[in-house]
Amino acid sequence: MTVILDGKKLRDKIFEELKAKVDEMPVKPSLAVILAGDDPSSKIYVNNKKKCAEKLGINSVVITYPSTVTENELLEKIKELNDDKHITAILVQLPLPVHIDKFKIIDAIAPEKDVDGLTPYNSGKLFSGEKPYVYPCTPKGILLLLDEYGIEIEGRHAVVIGRSNLVGKPVAQMLLDRNATVTMCHSKTKNLPDITKTADILISAVGKKVVGENMLKNNCVVIDVGIFRDENGKISGDVDFETVSKSASYISPVPGGVGPMTIASLMLNTVELAIIE
Ligand code: NAP
Repeated sequence: MTVILDGKKLRDKIFEELKAKVDEMPVKPSLAVILAGDDPSSKIYVNNKKKCAEKLGINSVVITYPSTVTENELLEKIKELNDDKHITAILVQLPLPVHIDKFKIIDAIAPEKDVDGLTPYNSGKLFSGEKPYVYPCTPKGILLLLDEYGIEIEGRHAVVIGRSNLVGKPVAQMLLDRNATVTMCHSKTKNLPDITKTADILISAVGKKVVGENMLKNNCVVIDVGIFRDENGKISGDVDFETVSKSASYISPVPGGVGPMTIASLMLNTVELAIIE
């Protein structure tokens, strides 16, 4: 029988524990989110993050800019937030408008306030085997979900499709740190199905329908990170759920799998950053 990895249920459990923790904090965590441009999905995500923070008693402020914002304006705002002792966590919502160098912007965030763990300091710590201030939200959420369902990682072959700094690379490193044998695939990978068929755990973070029937071995664990609108405007993931779920042992749905876990991790990270010395 295939088990659906229920990200909403785990998110709600994490929120309940976090709310109790935040209630006891004399000084509440404060999350600042920078939203630049008018990407409709980004607006929805940021709104959702603000609502979740408020539900947990976390202060949250969203700073919005038009798509014409300059790099200097963003850098100045980040400096101000870095210096503001009331702000404990900073998130820059991606993607940024195309004329902005996202690396320059992310690099400007103080590592101890970098709630998505994306600065060179925190990713450097992650990739050198040291502990970053916090782990990137989506990869952290994926590992929490695997652990919640008691899915073994050590010694298993994990195949990761997608090599972004946000998801693919950090999740591969975190699986490696948990003693998985990891293979990474991307748009230039040849014979993708030959590789995915050897996976015990498959993680797809692409944003296109890339995982279909006959691409996996029986009882594979399937984590679908992708979220996009298909040709009918319906929210979809990278995996053809109908066919793949028939042979998977565990599978995360879209929506309701990794998405809620990303928000749960963001809230966990916000609280963690507020209590570091
Ligand atoms: P990204 O930066 O666009 O990276 C996509 C990756 O997919 C790239 O490494 C690309 O390869 C690879 N790729 C593209 N076409 C491919 C193909 N045909 N076969 C194999 N690999 C292919 O994306 P991202 O930021 O990691 O996000 C990926 C997806 O996850 C998106 O749908 C995004 O919306 C979603 N996402 C969801 C959450 C969540 O909370 N659920 C969080 C973050 C992202 P190259 O490197 O060779 O170009």
